Amino acid sequence: MTVSLTDAKSAELFARASRVLPGGVNSPVRAMRSIGRDPLFVERAEGVDLIDVDGNRFVDWVCSWGPLIHGHAHPQILTAIHEAAAAGTTFGAPTALEVELAEEVVRRVPSVEMLRMTSSGTEASMSAIRLARAATGREVVVKFAGAYHGHVDGLLADAGSGLATQGIPASAGVLESATRATVVVPWNDVAAVEEAFARHDVAALIAEPYPANMGLVLPEPGFLARLRELTEAHGALLIFDEVISGFRVAPGGAQELSDVTPDLTVMGKVIGGGLPAAAFGGSQALMERLAPVGDVYQAGTLSGNPLAVAAGLASLRMLDETAYLRLSETTEALATGLREAAGDRPVQVASVGGLVTVFFSEQPVRDYADARRCDHEAYARWCRGLLARGVYAPPSGYEAWFVSLAHAPEHVARTLEAAAAAFEVAW
Ligand SMILES: *Cc1c(COP(=O)(O)O)cnc(C)c1O
Repeated sequence: MTVSLTDAKSAELFARASRVLPGGVNSPVRAMRSIGRDPLFVERAEGVDLIDVDGNRFVDWVCSWGPLIHGHAHPQILTAIHEAAAAGTTFGAPTALEVELAEEVVRRVPSVEMLRMTSSGTEASMSAIRLARAATGREVVVKFAGAYHGHVDGLLADAGSGLATQGIPASAGVLESATRATVVVPWNDVAAVEEAFARHDVAALIAEPYPANMGLVLPEPGFLARLRELTEAHGALLIFDEVISGFRVAPGGAQELSDVTPDLTVMGKVIGGGLPAAAFGGSQALMERLAPVGDVYQAGTLSGNPLAVAAGLASLRMLDETAYLRLSETTEALATGLREAAGDRPVQVASVGGLVTVFFSEQPVRDYADARRCDHEAYARWCRGLLARGVYAPPSGYEAWFVSLAHAPEHVARTLEAAAAAFEVAW
């Protein structure tokens, strides 16, 4: 059976967009280049229904790449935004809402006594690194290959030639001097991390505790605990970038589930409830190094914006124990169903509460090198097959599917039916 999409209006918008926006988009993954097609322009969305400008309707498993844990246009979040907006959209002065959101975060996240809000995860990780360097008086930051911490110059680094040597710029325009103090090591490789600590005076190690930007690649047992031991033994800070895992895999994020407490935590996505908000936090002693108390400068015109904070608060307050149970059940049903639909094809499905990745690989994926060896061409064909069957999955094999509380068993069932049919055409 051949199925295809009508996308004349998207194509027309894309042509216009490409004249005034580089690549027609404001963030690269939206262009759908890695699945070999042009983007679909969204008209509106509600719950998990995403409707494009040509009237195609999809079950959305991207959910804006993480913020929409309650699905699109949740009535309580919309009400919170409307109420906040009616009182004024920004003041450049403190509000009660910011205090309430900060209190909600501190209650949930084990490592966070105090936090500073920003407008994006990029700013939050950039600021966390600045704070870590100030607090330790050292320069080197260790990061993992395939981990993403936003488009911070110093963190846009690839592994250099030898293990545990300085990173090389992963983008044009990033100076070698900006990545000279970044060391990139493979995920799940204890020996490489040990070598990095033996060779460098490390200020901080930054990790996504449940990496989800090379696809979901969970830490092997004991790996996060070993990172904690090594950082502590060497007087370096451990930074968990929980922009994806925070408030998603558990109320307190991956640090709660793994029982490993970092010094600093970077938060984003869910914390803004679909509006631009992010944060970083840690102990009072560390966080009070920030201006205006301390000597580390950090600021933002729209940081703690009332609309974003109201949306984030409404989002967090709906995340009770039942919500996490339900999210886990939906995730498990999707992951198990995808495994069954794949049958004996070379497919690996990784999952944890609220996150799923489908790797087109014979072997389980344990690091970025494995993720790169996957059959990304087959994934692209499968993903286009899903789109044609009304399922909007991440248009890249290096991303996670974002499960929301708006995904019901019927959405999982429809997705699995499409997945099985699309597997037939993927190879
Ligand atoms: C999305 C993401 C970021 C960057 O957040 P932005 O708000 O896009 O700047 C940082 N870290 C991780 C783990 C992310 O997934």
